[in-house]
Amino acid sequence: MSTSESWIDRGLTHVASTYGRYPLVAASGEGCWLTDIDGKTYLDFLAGVAVNNLGHCHPKVVKALQEQAATLIHCSNYYHIPSQIELAEKLCQFSFGDRVFFCNSGAEANEAAIKLARKYSRDQGHNERFEIITAKASFHGRTMTTISATGQERIQAGFAPLTPGFKYVPFGDSDALAAAITPATCAIMLEPVQGEGGINVPPAGYLRTVRELCDRHLLTLIFDEIQSGIGRTGHLFAYQHDNVEPDVMTLAKGLAGGPPIGAMVAREKHAAALGPGTHGSTFGGNPLMTAAGLAALTTVIEDGVLDNCRAMGAYLRDRLEQLQSRYNFVKEVRGRGLMLGMELSCEGGEIVKTALQRGLLINCTVGTVLRFVPPLIVTEKEIDQMIEILDGIFAEHQEKG
Ligand SMILES: *Cc1c(COP(=O)(O)O)cnc(C)c1O
Repeated sequence: MSTSESWIDRGLTHVASTYGRYPLVAASGEGCWLTDIDGKTYLDFLAGVAVNNLGHCHPKVVKALQEQAATLIHCSNYYHIPSQIELAEKLCQFSFGDRVFFCNSGAEANEAAIKLARKYSRDQGHNERFEIITAKASFHGRTMTTISATGQERIQAGFAPLTPGFKYVPFGDSDALAAAITPATCAIMLEPVQGEGGINVPPAGYLRTVRELCDRHLLTLIFDEIQSGIGRTGHLFAYQHDNVEPDVMTLAKGLAGGPPIGAMVAREKHAAALGPGTHGSTFGGNPLMTAAGLAALTTVIEDGVLDNCRAMGAYLRDRLEQLQSRYNFVKEVRGRGLMLGMELSCEGGEIVKTALQRGLLINCTVGTVLRFVPPLIVTEKEIDQMIEILDGIFAEHQEKG
């Protein structure tokens, strides 16, 4: 047995079977490259599902972790934590927000946003308001309440009863959204670009209309930027493409460049709803993760990462569109920045498996959409290498018919 095979065998025996895993045993990573336990290297265009925005083991993230780990790893939120304060300041400086609640994952950030939206309504004297409208094909996490917020039956199947108070409308349809608002509605929660639902970009003007509806009906607007945020779309936050600011925004994935962290950013008025004792997290905002977050966020903002994301996003899109013009099973290329999807007229699972064998990591959402979310530091050369592998697979796929 190779080293990989024996690890896979052990992994399939005692680790929970919640994931359908590919036969790769991860050992190390650098930049856009992941190396397995047998020494084979892979070009990583999945980046831990949009987590490794700065590539694997970015030196500045590594340094921040090492220094903080040797200084102070954990400290209760009963006390003030400098790196947490600095990260909150930076997030507010570069967004619409005034205050940040820290947690450890995307689902937890959304839980905080959902609690805030309900509590804010109550505090405004609207006791009848509790309902949150979300989008079909959305993805907001895997806890009981966040699967309830997620507008996908396949994610909810088997877990009833769900948390009450969620209603789903087609993404991008402002008339359907307007029609769904009732006196019980307290908030609207959307991804500015849907990730797990297939890289769906809303039509121009949609987010602005959503903002206007929220203003008219006094609803809290929550943007789930857990995947689209931290530079992924070429702006620090995806809402900046449309110049439409939410009241609350959730972040996680790329925020610390790898380490686990979640955050909810809110305007002062809304944040006030979660006063002392209303919410919390033991690990949330701990010194180690927020030190990594501060290093990663600073790097994204100051080291030309956004410029590279825009340039490489345009280049990758162009190269994917060239493939589209040559292969008739490619229906559409869509997305923003380095959050791109390629919709196929067939299932994409086999293509993903073949890509893995040939040293390329990508994935496929909703069965037919190949997803490309490489590190934002990806180079033209790496994109060319990726396209070459994909082109080879597509050519064989076309032949097979
Ligand atoms: C990944 C993701 C989540 C869930 O984040 P976890 O850290 O897995 O809990 C929520 N919303 C969006 C848009 C995501 O992409």
